[in-house]
Amino acid sequence: MKQLKKAFILDVEPKQLYSVLKPLVCEEYRIKQIAEWLYVKKADSFEKFSNLPKDIRGNLESSFYLRSFQNVIKKESVLDGTVRYTFKTYDSHYVYAVYLPSESAKSVCISTQIGCPVSCNFCSSGKIKFLRNLSRGEILEQIIHIENDIKERISGVLFMGMGEPFLNYTNLTSAIESIISKKELNIGKRHITVSSVGIIPAIKNLANAMYGVRFALSLHATDDKQRKKIIPNNFDAKISDLLQACRYYLKKTNSRITVEYILIKGFNDTSSDAHRLARLMRTADLIGPAVQVNLIPYNRSDKNDYETPEQIAVLNFKKILKLNGITVNIREAKGLDIGAACGQLGYCAK
Ligand code: SF4
Repeated sequence: MKQLKKAFILDVEPKQLYSVLKPLVCEEYRIKQIAEWLYVKKADSFEKFSNLPKDIRGNLESSFYLRSFQNVIKKESVLDGTVRYTFKTYDSHYVYAVYLPSESAKSVCISTQIGCPVSCNFCSSGKIKFLRNLSRGEILEQIIHIENDIKERISGVLFMGMGEPFLNYTNLTSAIESIISKKELNIGKRHITVSSVGIIPAIKNLANAMYGVRFALSLHATDDKQRKKIIPNNFDAKISDLLQACRYYLKKTNSRITVEYILIKGFNDTSSDAHRLARLMRTADLIGPAVQVNLIPYNRSDKNDYETPEQIAVLNFKKILKLNGITVNIREAKGLDIGAACGQLGYCAK
């Protein structure tokens, strides 16, 4: 694998900046200034670190990269203003992020891995061979790049792009610390959502870490056999155990849980599925205002034979959940014309 010639400065955790930079910069207040340029002002060249002496800027330039992505391709949806970013990594692979503007929020959906080893068979990212985890810096750079590009503050982050975040737990949590830190990206913890197919120990670890971010479980099925068909590498987690882990997360963090459910025609969109999902959630004590089910009508792709459900089936599914006291929302597809909608990331960028 190609190595970077210099270190990538966003890979250095701010708490380690002092020890790493000490040979180049002696005074502690200078380190604070550097951290501010990196994470608050988000300068894109060391030259712009204007309150630092020229020799320090030169030392930084010769020892570190400030950015790691080599190239960025941008595509904007004419339908809804969603923007898909394709970043070329230093080792010539591609990762994707999506900017999702709305009246109330400016959110980004970002990636944590190149390819995805989970290989959900409804998902285009799952068709891309897993190559490596993204570093902490590469995760953060997606947000910083988009914020600089749109020239507005990002208010929410969804870890729902390419990759299974829990398989890159150390870099995920290191990035989360910088995202929620008031001295760094300063995005409210309740506006961060980590989405996962569910690795039970990792769900509990994230709960115990008490970041207070939101957790979304990609469930997509109502019995274990059905789930195995759609998520073959499901870490052998049983649905009942996954929902118990969600309950643990909810109790421990007092933060909202989302259950994501992709509706696929004739596969998991029947009334029986809806009733079974309601039963499972009741058994796990997951019915209440802090838990929401997001129904995601499948976005058709030429990579498999799955079909978009009929609208009547979607509305019927929603009605059954609602009658069972479940907070339920039909997620509107964003960025359909640019391959940026849920499950589409990964096949039309290059
Ligand atoms: S849905 Fe998520 S976990 Fe599944 S293949 Fe796609 S990126 Fe990976």
